Amino acid sequence: MLIFLALLSVFTLSFAAERHFDTYKKGDGNGHTLLVIGGVHGDEPGGFFAPSILIQHYQISNGSLWIVPNLNFDSIVRNQRGAYGDLNRKFDRLSLDDKDYVIIQDIKALILNPRVDLLLNLHDGHGFYRESWENTIFNPGAWGQTCIIDQNVLDINSPFKNLDAIARHVSTNLNKSPLEQEYHDFHVKNTETKDKDEQMQLSLTYFAVTHEKPAFAIETSKNLTKLERKVQYQLRAIEEFLKVMAIHYKRDFDLDNYEQVSQIVNELGVLTLNNQMSFHLSSLKKDIYFVPLKDAHNLAAFTHPLGSMRIDSKKQYQVSVGNQLVTTLHPQYFELETQLDSIKMVRDGEEILVQKGSTVAVRNSFKILVGASYRVNIIGFTKEGVSSESDVLVSFNEVLKRYSIDTDGYKYRVEFYRENKFSGMVIIDFTPDEND
Ligand SMILES: [Zn+2]
Repeated sequence: MLIFLALLSVFTLSFAAERHFDTYKKGDGNGHTLLVIGGVHGDEPGGFFAPSILIQHYQISNGSLWIVPNLNFDSIVRNQRGAYGDLNRKFDRLSLDDKDYVIIQDIKALILNPRVDLLLNLHDGHGFYRESWENTIFNPGAWGQTCIIDQNVLDINSPFKNLDAIARHVSTNLNKSPLEQEYHDFHVKNTETKDKDEQMQLSLTYFAVTHEKPAFAIETSKNLTKLERKVQYQLRAIEEFLKVMAIHYKRDFDLDNYEQVSQIVNELGVLTLNNQMSFHLSSLKKDIYFVPLKDAHNLAAFTHPLGSMRIDSKKQYQVSVGNQLVTTLHPQYFELETQLDSIKMVRDGEEILVQKGSTVAVRNSFKILVGASYRVNIIGFTKEGVSSESDVLVSFNEVLKRYSIDTDGYKYRVEFYRENKFSGMVIIDFTPDEND
């Protein structure tokens, strides 16, 4: 399983963005390399959830796919276009004290890497582009459902220098795949940046094309209400570019099956905190109280590339995936004790050994067997006169539903303490078996 680490610190450098982007490299190094950059704008989720799915669900051969899913990560977690101003207007000149300075320098270096043959910059744009004015949604000033180029051709030695021809080829093929609505069809939009668009001269793709790198922007429409639909269209567009570049790909789902795409987009993965406890983020409650954390330097590891945790002004921990706030953790501070590894317990009458941090499926009842060495606290369960809930048989109808960590009321925390230090947690999952 992929694990993405983020060390949260109370000390953040005031002159730099808090989060840097990540780069994932797939493929075998043969053939061409496509660089996909997502999340230049933090409130355009089609543009960053699509690359996160490339990372998790695609295999690449006969070439390479490099993926930046979260270029403007500070803005993504805030669901803002640009927390420190528009990142896509910082590619010409930039002051050294700009908070995005390091990010801009590093993404420029990646773009200019000699291995990169072509790059895509992913956005969600307003409306639906049309060559002539129809109304405020369908018009030449709209950006949605387009393949954007800065000019028709690049004067370089590259099989991909004919931007207009490639963009037309990609759009034509996209429009052959089943569209939800006919008016979702893709168009080519040439911004003629050099002569006509001073703003776009400051952009990522213009930086690329003026440094001999073929570049395109893909814009799905902000007027599409479903994130899943934007992601589906973005992925189809990226696949068309992979085909143009003869890079082979395999994915583990059917891209034309909207149900499957929805399922994958809504898989938020697992958060592991301080290697002591893990939470499945899908179906987690909006607030989790008395979470045993350190008062600083908590280590948050996500299986989702867009996972992030930050401390808000009330010293609560906001857990997000992309621009979606998943849950708020209300901490109770403890020192950590790290000696506990595996835990003996009886599950439905059978003795088993489980790892700290794991989720344990239980049908009817369980009993923790750690003896007197640890104090056990089953959140949502109390027994008169018992300070440690080891060696106590607990069944589903004895736990209070309002203490569950999930919205369905099936998952409960079991916490272990030693000498007032927090030793770890397991989650008991009473979700009924579908075969029952
Ligand atoms: Zn954008």
